[in-house]
Amino acid sequence: MATTDWLTELPNRRKFDETLSRMFHQSERYAEEITLVLFDIDHFKRINDSHGHGAGDAVLRDIATLMRLHVRKSDLPARLGGDEFAIVLYHTNSEQARMFVEIFLESVRAHPFEYEGTHLNISLSVGIAQYNHSMKAPQALYYAADKALYQAKNGGRDCCSLFLEVPHAQERMTS
Ligand code: GH3
Ligand code: MG
Repeated sequence: MATTDWLTELPNRRKFDETLSRMFHQSERYAEEITLVLFDIDHFKRINDSHGHGAGDAVLRDIATLMRLHVRKSDLPARLGGDEFAIVLYHTNSEQARMFVEIFLESVRAHPFEYEGTHLNISLSVGIAQYNHSMKAPQALYYAADKALYQAKNGGRDCCSLFLEVPHAQERMTS
């Protein structure tokens, strides 16, 4: 149970950190593409405040079920804590990840979230980042996806944002 989230039964943060690190180093060594998808439920506090903690818990479990339906065996879906989730997509570049996310978001939009007969409106904000060689540690990939997630939140939520590498600062000219 040390690697499983008790509420959703998804891998937890500890398992996520271990797997991300392993996949990151494999990717670095063998030039395999990996992409990290991070997402967070929009205005989740309102669900708890308006319908109770039980409703919030039911939503978290439904999201986990939808994640399990969509990932491949080689991917790692995880609940990082609170209403934040992650999926490490193996052998996947950012464009393929974006298509995956579109399909996943469609399934979330189509899902009838309900608690004790009341319909709940649920949307997600998503950040996507692909591993690249300028990233020296797994945390760099996490921060990149988190930055993209922040952009999605700032961009009005219910959307997906892709991390784009800022070009390296130009080398200083020497005479
Ligand atoms: P934002 O769109 O900016 O993400 O707004 P938000 O309301 O979702 O804000 P935030 O992500 O900070 O809120 C997370 C909330 O999730 C706060 C906390 O009360 C609630 N929460 C954390 N863990 C659990 C849980 O296990 N069950 C339930 N029901 N609620 C939880
Ligand atoms: Mg949230």
